[in-house]
Amino acid sequence: MADVDRARLTVLAGPTAVGKGTVAAYVREQHPEVWISVSATTRRPRPGEVDGVHYHFVDDPTFDTMVAEGALLEWAVVHGAARYGTPRGPVEEVLAEGRPALLEIDLQGARQVRATMPEACFVFLAPPSWEELVRRLVGRGTEDAAERERRLATAREELAAEREFDVTITNTEIPVAAEELVALMWRGGPPD
Ligand code: 5GP
Repeated sequence: MADVDRARLTVLAGPTAVGKGTVAAYVREQHPEVWISVSATTRRPRPGEVDGVHYHFVDDPTFDTMVAEGALLEWAVVHGAARYGTPRGPVEEVLAEGRPALLEIDLQGARQVRATMPEACFVFLAPPSWEELVRRLVGRGTEDAAERERRLATAREELAAEREFDVTITNTEIPVAAEELVALMWRGGPPD
């Protein structure tokens, strides 16, 4: 039986390309007891991305409706391009069941959640160094030069936000960072 008092909402944020998505994917695979929110987004799917699994891919009018109806816990325009938001209902249901919930969102979204749910645990995923962050950003190679510059500018601002968070985890090795994250997801430590 899940322990309702001990399950918590954990918000994972950090700079672009630090590996938030990879850490979340590791948790999804290794820790099925952790529920991970599926965001709505207006960006187009990348090859291999599945609607309802990686994101709910929606058009602009649908996203407008979600915002107007208060169906999103938070939302933001990320990298000056598409909109991304966390559907509110599933998060509330999962927490009511006593299951730990994880949001992998950008900094603007984390600030909104902080305003409405200050009891959540806010985790900053940091790169081992700025050089390493740049290497990861360029190494991914999925963006053109202008897009990369835009993302680096965002990353610089996002790094400065570390002090707003409850905990910092340095993402040197994905499994290590992911296990540190999971250990934070229960008040008083994970169940035996
Ligand atoms: P990508 O397009 O590479 O999948 O994600 C771009 C950025 O959007 C990442 O930094 C990711 O954390 C952020 N993001 C994904 N879902 C959400 C969401 O629901 N809300 C907010 N605020 N950011 C999100």
